[in-house]
Amino acid sequence: MTETHIVRQTPPRISSDTVHAALRAALGRKVTSGDPEKMSAYLADQCLLTTAGVPAHLVRATAQEDVVETLKVAHRFQIPVVTRGAGTGLTGAANAIDGCIMLSLADMNRIVEIDPVGRLARVEPGVINGDLDRAASGHGLGYLPDPGSRDISTIGGNIATNAGGMCCVKYGVTREHVAALTVVLSDGQVLRTGSRTRKNVTGLDLTSLVVGSEGTLAVITEATVWLHPRPVGTSTVVALFGSLRQAVIAVDILTRTLAPSAVEIMDSQTIAAVNEFTRMGINTTAAAVLLLRFDGSETANSTDAELAGDLLGNHGASEVFRTNDPAEGNELMAARAVALTALESKGAILLHDVAVPVHQLPALVAGVGQIAERHELTIATFGHAADGNMHPTIVFDAADSHARHRAKTAFEEVMDLGLSLGGVLSGEHGIGVLKQQHLPKQLDPGTRNLTKRVKHAFDPMNLLNPGRAL
Ligand SMILES: Cc1cc2nc3c(=O)[nH]c(=O)nc-3n(C[C@H](O)[C@H](O)[C@H](O)COP(=O)(O)OP(=O)(O)OC[C@H]3O[C@@H](n4cnc5c(N)ncnc54)[C@H](O)[C@@H]3O)c2cc1C
Repeated sequence: MTETHIVRQTPPRISSDTVHAALRAALGRKVTSGDPEKMSAYLADQCLLTTAGVPAHLVRATAQEDVVETLKVAHRFQIPVVTRGAGTGLTGAANAIDGCIMLSLADMNRIVEIDPVGRLARVEPGVINGDLDRAASGHGLGYLPDPGSRDISTIGGNIATNAGGMCCVKYGVTREHVAALTVVLSDGQVLRTGSRTRKNVTGLDLTSLVVGSEGTLAVITEATVWLHPRPVGTSTVVALFGSLRQAVIAVDILTRTLAPSAVEIMDSQTIAAVNEFTRMGINTTAAAVLLLRFDGSETANSTDAELAGDLLGNHGASEVFRTNDPAEGNELMAARAVALTALESKGAILLHDVAVPVHQLPALVAGVGQIAERHELTIATFGHAADGNMHPTIVFDAADSHARHRAKTAFEEVMDLGLSLGGVLSGEHGIGVLKQQHLPKQLDPGTRNLTKRVKHAFDPMNLLNPGRAL
């Protein structure tokens, strides 16, 4: 797949040596220039469908001052800057642009403060999501956003992509967990947005604007995020269905009366791949499996899980299993967590991230089935059913050029199908390079124009991740 939508800036008139000297004077050995071997780990994220350029300079920042100095040099010489967390993104948003400064924040990984009274944590952007949650657990608290990459992705990357995950149906996406940010603008100016108060309606909500902006508006150098009491008394329900459509209809009915903290779905192709990968012994004759989690108090969640089991049984589930044992529940949910890795072991994959209104899920899964049939492709579908956010995943032979072409066509058809059902181009992975050219399909010209003016207000020289996301 060699589709590149990267907007390459006019090459800077200044020589790379001059820029290197300026960066070196400000940052010392944190800068590397023109060393292909050292750069190789920073070229691209995890997206297969996009290609990447080659950075001229790599800065591994360890403090906010390094970011300020980097951006001042970039501003002076008008060099594009790509900010990078862990590079686990799935849209090419952190891919290098030819001649850019690649600004890695992975080494800014200090948990600065955990405030159990205010239920807040203040962290540098390179802190790994799961590490913050584990640190918070020492205070009986949790950092709840749970992308599947929580043990490898950074808080800065999660905020910049407004990452989702399994628990969003109850606890919301990353945006709901961000109280305040410290950011550096493209000219090196440092700003603080938001507050440590539960409520704040002072001025425009710039925190929310930066969340999900994919490194295009500012570089996040510190985040203050909300912590919550750790969910207790987890109950888990597994329900097998003879039809995928029946399963998603049941989800819509269930969430009208119950409030689970996760409702995950896997189709038969995903179940087979997970089973082969984990040897978990899931019933592979089922067309779909639903995995639901309830948490709250011991009594409330076991009652809800019981009600959910009955309800699913009455709405098409052929088998229902319930457990109030959190460890057993975690093992069951782990099946869904490894879905992507299990599918990757079957061939090259194109992972989609389409979100539709929940009542349109039956039409989405039917349409994806037709697309798979038309292009003679395997499309395995799994995802966050109660959010209407599915990941139809095309598994294909990357060495076969016809298969690659069919996969790309099917990918675009799934996107169009989602939009035709009132959905959006992305539910959680973002736009990046992958879907940037498709934005006009969803956003009207007025909205795009205003977005460009907002970008201009933050970054008048278009230096931060130019040509991506917006
Ligand atoms: C196995 C696997 C499972 C995944 N599961 C999920 C999931 O369940 N939900 C989900 O939403 N995503 C998921 N993802 C995608 C990915 O992990 C998320 O998008 C994540 O938020 C990216 O974090 P990162 O640190 O890797 O950021 P990167 O990939 O390095 O960067 C992502 C974007 O953020 C920008 N950025 C990074 N740090 C900063 C900063 N400090 N300031 C400004 N901009 C910044 C980059 O420029 C880029 O635009 C998954 C990925 C994998 C590989």
